Amino acid sequence: MDLTPGLVCSHHHLYSALARGMPAPPSTPTEFLEILEQIWWRLDCALDEDTIYWSAKLGALEALSRGCTSIVDHHESPNAIEGSLSIIADACAEVGVRVNCAYGVTDRHGATGAAAGLAENDRYLSAGGRGMVGLHAAFTCEPDTIAAAAEMARRHEVGVHVHVAEGPADTWQLLQGHTAPNWWLVHGVHLPTEHGLEGTIVHNARSNMNNAVGYGAPMRFSNPVALGTDGIGADMLDEFRVAFVRAREHDVTTTPDVIWNWLQKGYDLFPEALSDRVAWDYEPMDPWRLAYSPGVSPTSVEVDGVVLFENGTTTQVDAAEIRAKSAEAAQKLWAKL
Ligand SMILES: [Zn+2]
Repeated sequence: MDLTPGLVCSHHHLYSALARGMPAPPSTPTEFLEILEQIWWRLDCALDEDTIYWSAKLGALEALSRGCTSIVDHHESPNAIEGSLSIIADACAEVGVRVNCAYGVTDRHGATGAAAGLAENDRYLSAGGRGMVGLHAAFTCEPDTIAAAAEMARRHEVGVHVHVAEGPADTWQLLQGHTAPNWWLVHGVHLPTEHGLEGTIVHNARSNMNNAVGYGAPMRFSNPVALGTDGIGADMLDEFRVAFVRAREHDVTTTPDVIWNWLQKGYDLFPEALSDRVAWDYEPMDPWRLAYSPGVSPTSVEVDGVVLFENGTTTQVDAAEIRAKSAEAAQKLWAKL
């Protein structure tokens, strides 16, 4: 047995928790933009307040049970925008997992949709919510929308959480001149090494491989680097291992400490997670060993001094009930698709 602080997932999409098992798209996507159009942009349109709540609650439960006590979430639900960030924050609070919320503003649904997304970020942050201003990605945003998000973030003294150069078609150059050190730049796969953007680059190794967008080799940037899952759960030890082996494929001299430092970058947004105590069924919790030890699991998770997970289950919420209600919500969501 050995202890670590709570782990942080620096980029998640909790709304994707109910996507697993969803009906296959009408035709098989053959490239990244088709994956967005045929899977994620159909799913996010089908979300309502109930499915947002249960996907967040299930995602938070899964995070907690893997020793992840803090999540940086990026949300989109074009037909249920207003109040959505508070629903996610409430669902995570009920499970006991911290969350930093952002609504991914986009012009995909016209100027009205963009305005509603901006308004939701403003409403949530003005009410004291923990978060950032979200942008989907430069290639789905008008320049005025990007400028408005940057201005709003400055006003709230937070960063902008935005997908950057995930695929080759992104118009990331539109972000130049707007960024600041507190921006959260997700992916950066197709960014040149000298790109002029300020902020933390958030690497999502498994998601990038899954979407066949290429390898960003984030160690080449002068920016700080953090580690996320892009919605594929919140098992950060597993993500660490995948990011390590992907980095080794690129450069066999990469050491696990490099990737472990990316994992630790999340404490910039969640310093309290350093005081959480996760007990593991393995010792010592050393990056070199963990890189080659699949299946290491938490035996207990303590957040803010309270044990929330022990003996394989949650102590404060009914995990079986959350799974059952989430399964019901998933059926409703899939029926819309
Ligand atoms: Zn993402």
